[in-house]
Amino acid sequence: MTLPRLIMFDMDDTLISSYRGEPKTVWERTLAPFEAELANVTVAAAAEAIFAAAQRFWSDSTRHREGRLDLARTRSEITHQGLSAAGIADRALSAAVSEAFQTLRDQEMTLFPDAHETLDSLRERGVLLALITNGQSKMQRPKIERFALEHRFEHIQIEEEFGIGKPEPQSYLNILETFDVAAADSWIVGDNLEWEVAAPQKLGIHAVWHDHKASGLPPDAPAVPDRIIRGLAEILPETTIAKTTA
Ligand SMILES: [Mg+2]
Repeated sequence: MTLPRLIMFDMDDTLISSYRGEPKTVWERTLAPFEAELANVTVAAAAEAIFAAAQRFWSDSTRHREGRLDLARTRSEITHQGLSAAGIADRALSAAVSEAFQTLRDQEMTLFPDAHETLDSLRERGVLLALITNGQSKMQRPKIERFALEHRFEHIQIEEEFGIGKPEPQSYLNILETFDVAAADSWIVGDNLEWEVAAPQKLGIHAVWHDHKASGLPPDAPAVPDRIIRGLAEILPETTIAKTTA
């Protein structure tokens, strides 16, 4: 497949793997050291309750937008909702658990193994690269630095800094305008079927879904990706893959 002039990349769960295993298991690992403080509630039940509260909270797009722009507070509130539902209404405990979750998440976060190689190979081929990520600057900038992503992109667009996030059309259009590239000559790569597939496809951008869990397209997907990859290096033309795996 011929490469386009411009490729936009999502960051979380596209270039960076945020969780080891499923999110629910991260809550279990977070809660394990707090077992004594959970009284009669098991770690598994408390994790399930927080996970359910998180699912509920993030399912609404308006709440999602407001929540991700104040993530520490939102996560503490979700933790409190979950623990309260499990019968533990303890604000101080909720705050401590929430903080421990963030710490664990930071520790477990890793770059997908072929991320740098893929980005560098694309740049060598003259493809313009843009990073488009939702959320707060103070959450996203440290990851960009930690995983040596800054110099690999011609343009980095963080929702809070730009003022508009995915799936708003202007978030993608701004990048096309910045490089004066037509939608038809651009791809977007990401794991979110709404933000990196359905919305950009409406603008004519070729959507590549990073199915990093190899779970396959869910039956309720809001759109069908133009392409599905399970590893980032699949984006590269076959000759490159053959060369790098030889
Ligand atoms: Mg993502």
